[in-house]
Amino acid sequence: MSALVIKDLHVSIADKEILRGLNLEIPKGEVHAVMGPNGSGKSTLSKVIAGHPDYTVTRGEVLLDGKNVLGLEPDERSRMGLFLAFQYPLEIPGVSNANFIRAAVQARLPEGEELEATEFYAKLYEKMDLLEMPRAFTARSVNEGFSGGEKKRNEILQMAMLEPSYAILDETDSGLDIDALKVVSNGVNALRGPNLGILLITHYQRLLDYIVPDYVHVMVGGRIVQSGGKELALELEAKGYDFIREGLEEPALAS
Ligand code: ADP
Ligand code: MG
Repeated sequence: MSALVIKDLHVSIADKEILRGLNLEIPKGEVHAVMGPNGSGKSTLSKVIAGHPDYTVTRGEVLLDGKNVLGLEPDERSRMGLFLAFQYPLEIPGVSNANFIRAAVQARLPEGEELEATEFYAKLYEKMDLLEMPRAFTARSVNEGFSGGEKKRNEILQMAMLEPSYAILDETDSGLDIDALKVVSNGVNALRGPNLGILLITHYQRLLDYIVPDYVHVMVGGRIVQSGGKELALELEAKGYDFIREGLEEPALAS
C-alpha cells in the first residue's frame, strides 16, 4: 500500500533508548502532525527515517510503500521519494543554492538523462516566487548567512523542486515570525495533494492553524501516546502536555 509506515520502532543513541516502540502510519495524500514536548524524540524520529548514521535501530521497521528502508543509505531513501526538512538546516559555504538543488534534481533522473537547464530554472523561479524568495538566493551559498526564516523557506524550496512522495517537516515553524510562517505554510499547502504524504512535526499548535492536518499524534517519551483529529491540537494548546502525561500508566514516561 502507498504509505510511510513505522512499526514498533526502538532507537538508541549512546546506550540511551530514545524511541521506545513507536508506531505511525502516513498514507500518501494525508498530513499527519506529531506534537510533543522538547526531548520527546521528534527529531530523532525524523533523522532515523531519513537514515542518520548516529542512531542505532534496535527493533522495528520503517516501510516506504511496503519496502523496509532501514539499512539503505540516505541518498537511496531520498531517491525512493523521501524528503526531510531539517529543524536546523546546515550551511554549505561555496556551493550555490541553484547548483545544489540542480544536482539533487539531476540525481533523481534515470542514468544518462540530462536535466534541461531552461526548464529547471523556469520551475525554480516559479517555486521561489511561491515562497517569496528573491532571485538573488539562487547565487548565494546554501543557507550561508540566511536568517532563520530564509533557511526554512529554502528547505521548502528544495521540497518543491524534488517532489517527494513523503515529506517530513521537522519544526519548520520554529524561529519563524508570523509573516514568514504564513509564507512557508502557503508553500507547503500548495504542495499538498494525493501524491504526497506529510509528517508535520511541531511543538506548537500555531502552525496547525495554517497547515491543517488530517490527524494529530502526541509523542511523549519516545512513543505515540494519543492520536486524534485536528481538534486534539487545540486541546493540547489549552491544557498543555501535562494532561497527557498524567493520563499515562507508566510513571517513567511522565519524566
Ligand atoms: P525533540 O526533537 O522531541 O525535542 P530529540 O529527538 O531532539 O527530541 O531528542 C530526544 C532525546 O534524545 C533528548 O533527550 C536528547 O538529548 C537525546 N539525543 C538526541 N540526539 C542525541 C545525540 N546525538 N546524542 C545524545 N543524545 C541525543
Ligand atoms: Mg526536535
